Amino acid sequence: MVTNEFDLHTHSSASDGVYTPEELVAQAYQAGVKALALTDHDTVKGCEWLRDNDDLLPQDFRLINGVELTCKYGKQVLHVVGLNIDIASEAIQTHMNKLETLRNERAQTIALRLVKLGLPDLLTAAFEKAQGGQIGRPHFAQAMVSLGLVDSMAKAFKKYLGAGKPGDVKVEWPELSEVITLIHNAGGVSVLAHPTKYNLTLNKIRYLLAAFAEQGGDAVEISYPGVSKDQQKSLSILVAKHELAVSMGSDFHDPEQTWTRLGAYPPIPLGLSRVTERFLN
Ligand code: AMP
Ligand code: MN
Ligand code: MN
Ligand code: MN
Repeated sequence: MVTNEFDLHTHSSASDGVYTPEELVAQAYQAGVKALALTDHDTVKGCEWLRDNDDLLPQDFRLINGVELTCKYGKQVLHVVGLNIDIASEAIQTHMNKLETLRNERAQTIALRLVKLGLPDLLTAAFEKAQGGQIGRPHFAQAMVSLGLVDSMAKAFKKYLGAGKPGDVKVEWPELSEVITLIHNAGGVSVLAHPTKYNLTLNKIRYLLAAFAEQGGDAVEISYPGVSKDQQKSLSILVAKHELAVSMGSDFHDPEQTWTRLGAYPPIPLGLSRVTERFLN
């Protein structure tokens, strides 16, 4: 996969990525990325840090303030990326505070559930892995690997944390419509993240994209690690039908995850409106 100049979906240590925001920018720039969206899970702290240290940004480099918001539609947990958001807006700040509490409480429940399975109490170790960033299941997976309870993060998800496992703790995530409105109130564009990664049938994806468009969603990711050409074809038809734009990104977290790297994603299908047209000039 070639390196693209845009990468609109990446994570730093402010959530479950391994690079600090500073390292992420340096690595992206070195890889040839010219416009990078930092889209941590339910936090804009990495973007805030870069705003306050903007002398670190190369001259010919554009940072796009972003976030990947966890939400639900019916029983389905979804991720919606907000791009070009005003991170200082009251709407965003209030939401981030709410999500921090929600995620901290969820972490306690995850730890309790794992104890019930006979594992040690991993709460402190998971918070240590999160290093003050927004906590999530990957930090529990990292703690398990460090303690030798499993030999990889993938195994930790497969055994304890993945879909349907006890550590997959569902909470009252905000509604899809709520996060779309929030992103709009913060002046951003809303992007449905990785639609083929929710284990939904094509028919369910059809309903989901219709609902997303109906609720005012702006764009859908169409180029990201793991999406197949056939899936892109199906998504292209739905995107065109609902007059949505398309987005693309590496969903980069960690250089050890060899299936993705900064700026890398499959080619973007032609003939569709790109989300970058909405905010890059
Ligand atoms: P959470 O936000 O706490 O629900 O955690 C979701 C995150 O876990 C995703 O954004 C991924 O980064 C990570 N994740 C999900 N499934 C896996 C998996 N099977 N292996 C490794 N990481 C995963
Ligand atoms: Mn993640
Ligand atoms: Mn995601
Ligand atoms: Mn992501």
